[in-house]
Amino acid sequence: MTCSIICLLCAVLTPALLRGAAPSADIIPEFLGQIDEGHLRNGIFHLAKDPLPFRKVNFTVPGHAHNSLEETDAWIQDQLAGWGYGVEREACEVQAFACNPQKPIHHTYAPPPPDAPKYPAYNLYAKMTGRRLPAEIILLLAHKDSQSWTDSPGAYDNSVGTVAILEIARVLAGYASERSIWFLWCNEEHTPWTSVAAAAECRRRGDNLIAILNVDSIGGKSDDDIAARRKTNVTLFTTPEGRTLADLMAEVNDAYRIGLIQSSAQRKSPGDDDGSFVKAGYTRAIANIGSYPYLDAEYHLAGDTADRVDIVNVRMATQATLAAVLRLDRAP
Ligand SMILES: [Zn+2]
Repeated sequence: MTCSIICLLCAVLTPALLRGAAPSADIIPEFLGQIDEGHLRNGIFHLAKDPLPFRKVNFTVPGHAHNSLEETDAWIQDQLAGWGYGVEREACEVQAFACNPQKPIHHTYAPPPPDAPKYPAYNLYAKMTGRRLPAEIILLLAHKDSQSWTDSPGAYDNSVGTVAILEIARVLAGYASERSIWFLWCNEEHTPWTSVAAAAECRRRGDNLIAILNVDSIGGKSDDDIAARRKTNVTLFTTPEGRTLADLMAEVNDAYRIGLIQSSAQRKSPGDDDGSFVKAGYTRAIANIGSYPYLDAEYHLAGDTADRVDIVNVRMATQATLAAVLRLDRAP
């Protein structure tokens, strides 16, 4: 049976309906467009210059009541509270590393002396509960502390990751996620690393972490890459399960035309805060980092300053990370 009137109407209406087919359209580009370079820049300068020159238990801004890592925590919590998140704190005991200037210039940390003071340090969690698959957890993490053994602002290492996952939390604040999305700010420049305690606690509870994305030193790269204005990102993985996440990073960089020079590399053994989770048995873990091996000339030095940070590169790597999180969240 045919109806020429309806078919005529269809011929007119169908293209318009398709153009306006909002319910099935990809929502991800709109979220990516909300990642804001001004927010990223302000956060990096706040945490790595003024008012906080460092983020460590063994430095207190003169005249302030709390050490600079506690002040960092308070600022992160205030930001999150402003966007409607509750924050869970997980207490750990840490010491500052000692400094051994005889060691290679970028790696002068050394075990603390036995009588070194102990300080409380905290893992901070903000959690979104999924509406369809709440037991499946996507974990985004970044270490928020700066180098406890030396006076480096740690702008790339790792104010950028701290602020990147905060910006993702801001953009997702009104988003009804399918799965649970957890944000974790931990400490990795003191000893022991507090991500180890976080991973052990997840394991003890039996949390089903389906993906772990560590954001550390995004945009940090060689002087050659800086001079050539390359926007780089390397996704590190340790296991075959991690490789699938690295492939996803490459896919979203292409699909959403983010423009990163995106590559991936396999770690020889678990490393950094994603490694803490791999060692606890959570193998689907990656780290996004600006270069690998890490080639920032000011790595762990006083020159790792906020004004050197390539904000455009940080924005792009943040967008790619957010795109991967949303792809994982919205997968069938
Ligand atoms: Zn570091």
